Amino acid sequence: MTSVIIPAARPAIGSAGKTGLWRLRRPVINYDKCRRCMLCWMYCPEAAIEVREGVLIVDYDYCKGCGICASECPAGAISMVKEEVSGK
Ligand code: SF4
Ligand code: SF4
Repeated sequence: MTSVIIPAARPAIGSAGKTGLWRLRRPVINYDKCRRCMLCWMYCPEAAIEVREGVLIVDYDYCKGCGICASECPAGAISMVKEEVSGK
């Protein structure tokens, strides 16, 4: 798989902050179910899904937990899992 560079704007700390701080649920990819169709990568509004060495990775610093990737995944390979409260 070749890597594709797309323009993406991300908020910086001090302006809007990292959008991952908004998240109540996090997407978890089941790689056994994933068909590598890349729909999650296309639909993610935060460009928080990346391909590293052929593997889909969610950047939790910027994933805001909207669940669009899970809704669009045709294989049902993405589960939205409740975030644990750290108490910090
Ligand atoms: S939950 Fe939303 S922001 Fe996070 S990876 Fe999926 S589509 Fe992107
Ligand atoms: S949308 Fe689902 S099947 Fe397609 S690449 Fe993403 S996780 Fe894999």
